[in-house]
Amino acid sequence: MKSKSLNYLYIITIVFFGLGFFNIIFGWLGFICLILPFVLLYKDRKKTWCQGYCPRSSLFQNAFHGKSLIKKAAPSWLTKGRTKWFVLGYFCINLFILTMSTIMVSRGVRAPLERIRFLLLFQIPWNIPQILDFGSIPGWVVHLSFRVYSMMFTTTVIGLVLAGIFKPRTWCTICPVNTISDLALSKIKTKADIEIKRKGVV
Ligand code: SF4
Repeated sequence: MKSKSLNYLYIITIVFFGLGFFNIIFGWLGFICLILPFVLLYKDRKKTWCQGYCPRSSLFQNAFHGKSLIKKAAPSWLTKGRTKWFVLGYFCINLFILTMSTIMVSRGVRAPLERIRFLLLFQIPWNIPQILDFGSIPGWVVHLSFRVYSMMFTTTVIGLVLAGIFKPRTWCTICPVNTISDLALSKIKTKADIEIKRKGVV
């Protein structure tokens, strides 16, 4: 049975964004949401993270369960096919830019971008306060913190908008983590089928 405490995972999302106001360095915690789903997938051979532990989907559920505007599943053009691949493509481009720009900052080729952006391009017109001062932190570390925080901010805002209009977990249908997990699982299944057939032949 699902533990009741899992219903409160959304608090982690709120704490994550709140911590950014203390020091953006906490943005590195966003890597947990990027890496852990795949570690669990590899270990359990199923989408353990998405099925019960994702703090963002918990936020979507808790914020909009029974309260979405039209309370219907999103149209199929949004949740299937091209949109899914488009979002995955955006995610890959985002990761590429994030990696390259961090390398450039670490080499002193460019200055760190110490602003939050929505969808890579749209700069949030205010600076978030930095209540805690951790002293001198390398520019590339700060840059990467802002970039990961921006990525989490973007996907959470889009997820909340979709949850508010359609069903709470609409974002999950196009979330890159879900798409990559599906691809990995189908590969695992194909491998297992081949192995079974091979053993059957032998
Ligand atoms: S699909 Fe994305 S948002 Fe949904 S549960 Fe999985 S990781 Fe979280």
